Amino acid sequence: MALHGHDPKIYGVEDLVLLSTIDLNNVVDNLRIRFQKGRIYTYIGEVLIAVNPYRNLNIYEKDTVDKYKGREIYERSPHVFAIADSAYRSMKRFGRDSCIVISGESGAGKTETSKIIMRYLAAITNVQQQGEIERVKNVLLRSNCILEAFGCAKTNRNDNSSRFGKYMHINFDYEGDPIGGNISNYLLEKSRVVRQQTGERNFHVFYQLINGADDNLLRGFGLEKSAKKFYFLNQGNSEKVASINDSRDFAEVQSALRSISKFDRNDVESMWSVIAGLIHLGNIKFRDSDNSSGAVSVSDKVAIQNAAKCLSVTPDELVKSLTSQVVAAHGDIVKKQHDVNAAYYTRDALAKALYERLFSWVVSQINESINVQTSSKYSKSHVIGVLDIYGFEIFGSNSFEQLCINYCNEKLQQLFIELVLKQEQEEYEREGIKWQKIEYFNNKVICDLVEVPRTGILSILDEACASIGNVTDKVFLGEMDKKLKNHRHYTSRTLKQSDKSMGFEEFRITHYAGDVTYSVLGFMDKNKDTLFQDLKRLLYNSKNRLIKSLFPDGSKSMSEVNRRPPTAGYLFKNSMSELVKQLAQKEPHYIRCIKPNDEKNSSVFDKERVEHQVLYLGLLENVRVRRAGFAHRMPYDRFINRYKLICPTTWPNARYRQAPNATCTEILRHVNLANDCVEGKTKIFIRSPQTVFNLEELREQK
Ligand code: ATP
Ligand code: MG
Repeated sequence: MALHGHDPKIYGVEDLVLLSTIDLNNVVDNLRIRFQKGRIYTYIGEVLIAVNPYRNLNIYEKDTVDKYKGREIYERSPHVFAIADSAYRSMKRFGRDSCIVISGESGAGKTETSKIIMRYLAAITNVQQQGEIERVKNVLLRSNCILEAFGCAKTNRNDNSSRFGKYMHINFDYEGDPIGGNISNYLLEKSRVVRQQTGERNFHVFYQLINGADDNLLRGFGLEKSAKKFYFLNQGNSEKVASINDSRDFAEVQSALRSISKFDRNDVESMWSVIAGLIHLGNIKFRDSDNSSGAVSVSDKVAIQNAAKCLSVTPDELVKSLTSQVVAAHGDIVKKQHDVNAAYYTRDALAKALYERLFSWVVSQINESINVQTSSKYSKSHVIGVLDIYGFEIFGSNSFEQLCINYCNEKLQQLFIELVLKQEQEEYEREGIKWQKIEYFNNKVICDLVEVPRTGILSILDEACASIGNVTDKVFLGEMDKKLKNHRHYTSRTLKQSDKSMGFEEFRITHYAGDVTYSVLGFMDKNKDTLFQDLKRLLYNSKNRLIKSLFPDGSKSMSEVNRRPPTAGYLFKNSMSELVKQLAQKEPHYIRCIKPNDEKNSSVFDKERVEHQVLYLGLLENVRVRRAGFAHRMPYDRFINRYKLICPTTWPNARYRQAPNATCTEILRHVNLANDCVEGKTKIFIRSPQTVFNLEELREQK
């Protein structure tokens, strides 16, 4: 068979549904053959698999754009452009909102793929070069480097790892031109601001400032061109990254900031000042006081002074908020001195909160500049959403963040199963075809384990956080053990004493993608996510307008403070349910990214690593579901055009007097393949891929 003129014996099949036997080995082998030939894209029906090539392929240029523009998916070889075009066409032709969900593990290529999609959409729109639309396109494209500066970091798995989830939607007018958009961000990994593992870095933006800013600016901030000197930047011992040019990136970010008018010049200056302030905060050290007051003192006055200057607060106020806390006890307001540990904890909490709020501000400025005006012309705009969100994570040690991320993946997997099955079913119904359901693992049970009220993990956690008295992480674990002991997907060391692979402070969830063991230590603290009111007030009182605006809640007095703000888990659960709701309303397109090896190598295909990803992305199930009904379907006219030459009564001149379905069946009968095919209303459905092989082979022989 030679789909699109490509011999599958050499290049593998372009759609995994066409494999003669569907098993892990064949699927992975097919991906390997294609990867080695530079063909990184493969379909399962309309789901695209993309294997990271780790090199620049010449497949995203204008000639390729022209090849895919306005074409149906099956007309061309698998490509991300085909998916983008399909989303665009159904939006433009039928006014359907669509979304493209990109998944895969860290380094698999999600962010690159989402940028390729954005560039494609930019390339095929606004042919008349209208000014306002060009402006919107410019913001959409250029905001990327700003988001990456603030939200990406070098990790051990990816030099440009996104440490936040991103859902971006673009609004199009009735002519199909982009008129605006919106970005939602999810769960920024703010702990990175204060802590990095060996081999990793803080967010790019810090190194960009240090390496890219001119001497004047740096001097003004009390900084010098050496990331090595700063504790928040040097813990991973890898300040320089071969693939990254921080100073060039700084210039690019500055230029992008200047080109987006919502970034006021003063605010941008303040923004850099906050980044500088954070760098100095990291160098503040505490030690026990020499006198008997029990208070801690600050041992590095320069860092305090610089940090205070950059944050426009007084050094005294800063020291006071870091070394003590005002608390309400039995109706009285009392001042409590911190010990050294508590002071470090407070410093880090301040840095994390400040960075997180600054990040949200950056996103909101971008959003404001592409916000669709609700004028009548645009009120009927349509949307394409692109989701680039963290993949499933299993680390040596897993904590609250991994639980959130993995829960997010459970939700997306569930949506995938539902929508992919639903789409199939709907098509069969529309076409009046009978089909047989196949069994698949429904991961709803795991979503429930995390999210249901009262007995779900997040609920039990919230309850523990709301209790008074000495409720520790271990007490929380005990509560889970009590409530979840009979759950098939939950276990812990206490429940399963014999399992020595777990510690007594750990629990394990059997996710759809595999077992993950979580340590409960830190769960309650991360879930409460409280920032002492003193710190909020400190920054609310900053003389810097931007910083003050980031902490409006700092204006409250101690007695007005909401004792129980919503927890991090609660907020995350809500944002996930909102996201899923958004996605479910749209026509979905899926891109599954795969990482071929852990060495960022363009010529290594690590079979075991790929097998693992194929399994947990549920690709085998996907192929089977797709095939359980009908492997292939084609509109009648396309079928006739392609295969009329294999039947004497339709070639060279097909007798079009009869209905297209009858012509199709005539061709199929002639070659004895009609038994494997069923007529739908507008399409012919072909059950086994072998039939497609046979048809293609007959066609070749002509
Ligand atoms: P994370 O979850 O850590 O954010 P990711 O899935 O977003 O990971 P990317 O940052 O998109 O991964 O990709 C990692 C690297 O792989 C890129 O920096 C780039 O070098 C390479 N890469 C990915 N996709 C492509 C592509 N289509 N062509 C060339 N290189 C690519
Ligand atoms: Mg990414």
